[in-house]
Amino acid sequence: MKDIFLFDLDETLVDFSRAEETNFFKTLGDFGIAADDALYARFHTINDNLWRLLERGGISRGELQIRRFEQLFGECKITADGDAVAAAYFKNFEEICFPYRGARELLQKLAARGRIFLVTNGGARIQHSHVRLAGFEPLLSGVFISEEIGFDKPMPAFARYVESHIENYARERAVWIGDSRTSDMVCAKSVGIDFILYAAKGIPQDYDGPAADNYDGLYGMLTAM
Ligand SMILES: [Mg+2]
Repeated sequence: MKDIFLFDLDETLVDFSRAEETNFFKTLGDFGIAADDALYARFHTINDNLWRLLERGGISRGELQIRRFEQLFGECKITADGDAVAAAYFKNFEEICFPYRGARELLQKLAARGRIFLVTNGGARIQHSHVRLAGFEPLLSGVFISEEIGFDKPMPAFARYVESHIENYARERAVWIGDSRTSDMVCAKSVGIDFILYAAKGIPQDYDGPAADNYDGLYGMLTAM
């Protein structure tokens, strides 16, 4: 029976894409920069590429936060201070969070069956704030944020840190749930933790492992393990 639930946060329990887009238009608007969908799409691509680089250990989180704006402004001939925009974006993001419908209810049901821990890459201030805004805080037994623990998913050291900081931990009772095959799946498998892909936007055709695309289905899988 599984009773240690290790949950990713972004795109697993909260709609990170929507929060990111909302924040992008708000922050650039605050600086008087006229943003449109094409600019946002380019930002998104730059950001995704830098995150993949971060997951490979090629860039720090601090560098990523500034470089994504500097690169965007450079490419699009926008005159703005990348540092200042990055700082404002970071600050604004603390207040913008959209939990997925049913996420809190899922955690409520699971909290009655075991312990829930968040395992998330990201900035500590933002992630703690999002957990509070989403109403998840009272349902969690712990929160592991890469910035606080010093390792990013999918580094095996992230998973090892989590395993060594949960009291009464047993790997066979743990299951990791996340949307990312490059960070969550690799991280869980690096130490042999069972993994379920949560794919709210549809299970990828080329994925043949355990997966759910809605919370009822996910709950059913978790309680049958
Ligand atoms: Mg995620």
